[in-house]
Amino acid sequence: MRFFKTAWWVRQMFPQYTWKIDTQQPTIYLTFDDGPIPEVTEYVLDQLKQYQAKATFFCVGDNVRKHPDIYQQVVVHGHRTGNHTYHHLNGWKTEDEEYLTNIEQCYQIMNAASHSPHKPLFRPPYGKVKRSQMKSLVTRYQVIMWDVLTYDFDSTLEPEVCLQKAIGYTTPGSIVVFHDSVKSIDKLRYVLPRYLAHFAEQGFGFEAIGDET
Ligand SMILES: [Zn+2]
Repeated sequence: MRFFKTAWWVRQMFPQYTWKIDTQQPTIYLTFDDGPIPEVTEYVLDQLKQYQAKATFFCVGDNVRKHPDIYQQVVVHGHRTGNHTYHHLNGWKTEDEEYLTNIEQCYQIMNAASHSPHKPLFRPPYGKVKRSQMKSLVTRYQVIMWDVLTYDFDSTLEPEVCLQKAIGYTTPGSIVVFHDSVKSIDKLRYVLPRYLAHFAEQGFGFEAIGDET
């Protein structure tokens, strides 16, 4: 069972998280998780550039450590970055203290030189986080979930179906999840350019989360 679209009642159960941006404007909020990764992230940046699209990248701290130059490229291109833990931890399987420390470690490596006026962004890997963990996180971070999950990481999903679902479920203000990961690259090469072209043609723009405020 794949849940491409987040159900309204899930959003209602966790109103303290951001699931969608409240707007009537034809704006889409693309997000890319798990990078930065050589070639993959660069491919995404190149595609976005062709449409003057801005996006939000939820980075894994250890990947930022390994590929600081690519992380810098994301920032220099004017995209927003968010915290996705240092080791891509599953909150349900991790003790609170370890989980929060890991997030702080990711914060340190990502924001060493940043003086952003915004509250930093955080997205829990797998969307899995305990209430106890979230309680302390929401005081410090804007927690970003999603409205549309593309399943670009799922090798059993046909790229045509992935594209069709991603387009079909996107509405103004949608926060859409893609992955700049090795697992997703084949799917991305098919889906991302077509997705961008489709919505650009319809008059949609693409913005980073936080730019709407
Ligand atoms: Zn992830």
